[in-house]
Amino acid sequence: MIQKPKGTKDVLPDEIDLWNYTEARACDIFENYGFKEIRIPTFEYTELFERGVGDTTDVVQKEMYTFDDKGGRSITLRPEGTAGIVRSFIENGISSKPLPFKVYYAMPMFRYENVQKGRYREFNQIGAEIIGTASYLADVELISLADKLLKKLNINDIYLSLNSIGCPECRAKYQKALKEFIGKNINKYCDTCKSRFEKNPMRILDCKEKKCKELNQGAPVILDYLCDECKEHFENVKKGLDYLGISYAVDSSIVRGLDYYTKTVFEFISKTDGYTVLAGGRYDGLVKELDGPDTPAVGFAAGEERLNSLIPKEDIPSFPLDMYLVSMDEKFDIETMKLANDLREYLAVQTNISSRSFNAQMKYANKINAEFTIVIGEDEIKNKKCKIKQMETGKEELSKLDSESILNVIFEKFDDEF
Ligand code: ATP
Ligand code: MG
Repeated sequence: MIQKPKGTKDVLPDEIDLWNYTEARACDIFENYGFKEIRIPTFEYTELFERGVGDTTDVVQKEMYTFDDKGGRSITLRPEGTAGIVRSFIENGISSKPLPFKVYYAMPMFRYENVQKGRYREFNQIGAEIIGTASYLADVELISLADKLLKKLNINDIYLSLNSIGCPECRAKYQKALKEFIGKNINKYCDTCKSRFEKNPMRILDCKEKKCKELNQGAPVILDYLCDECKEHFENVKKGLDYLGISYAVDSSIVRGLDYYTKTVFEFISKTDGYTVLAGGRYDGLVKELDGPDTPAVGFAAGEERLNSLIPKEDIPSFPLDMYLVSMDEKFDIETMKLANDLREYLAVQTNISSRSFNAQMKYANKINAEFTIVIGEDEIKNKKCKIKQMETGKEELSKLDSESILNVIFEKFDDEF
């Protein structure tokens, strides 16, 4: 038997209501904040991620699905959404249109990761980007959008960690101090950390190895090195969140896994399992880095699998079948299907397409939880009348044998229960 590749999953029909619920809720909230959906390619030239995400990151160094296509070009399945959206922003000349450019997406991402609970190789992110404003107000709007999304999904056992990682200027001073601190023990760090020491020492603070985390205790804190502008930006973000009633804790260990971040970074972390559910930040240098006009931006992405695992199961609507039409004999099958088609203008209807016996059809209607059944046979067709049966209560009502009459009877006679 051929199995699915490691780290992928099938979303089966009995799980799909959850996925549709999450995406529909998210979409409503994004639209209410004035964001429009964007769809971009599943794969891009590898260079986009090397330059956009950063070649010292885990994502680029270890996790990308990269291959040469038949024309010999290096292609990568997108590991995240922001680099592709920025490429699209530049390529489509959007900077000459009214800014800010506010977009959202729900898309699969691909990372060659160690598969474990909450960590897959193909996973889905729901995210948003605001491109074209340097104001702290954009950070506040985006964080309040993320907060609203989680609240509307009834994910409450969660907290917001906030930090600023400054701009390249404040970071240069900070990295010097950090290197002095880490340098004293660099031999004791893991190999990945060692390899980052020269080019990107801040990433060492993001290491998940226990021994590295311990060695990082007491490291200098970026917030002490912020330049006046970055400091003011961060103070304004905090004041804005305070004013909107969004609580947070400043956590100087939040540096984020991707290279392009500047100033504000944040993570919404689940208290239930400690996982980061939604993460993002400002990336003022990325558009220019990818050869576009110097344009500030801010964005976030949430892991949909992680969101779904935290949504209270009782919130998820289900859509059971409204009606099953039972055909008494094969000679009525096609007339029954005609009636089913008419009813399908209004209701979700199934009928016999497996040449099943009467008894087998009744059993099937029960198993799939059809709310109503109607049996169609000789008498029904001759008299143009039928009985509508509500399966759960056993209640039956007479109706004429046409879709509108049936619908009326359902609304008049079963209204309360339906
Ligand atoms: P982590 O530190 O957990 O590896 P990251 O910094 O790589 O996260 P981002 O790239 O910022 O994560 O992705 C944002 C969100 O996407 C994460 O907070 C998480 O919810 C989700 N996510 C990231 N990688 C995976 C994965 N392999 N499987 C499932 N969800 C993921
Ligand atoms: Mg990761």
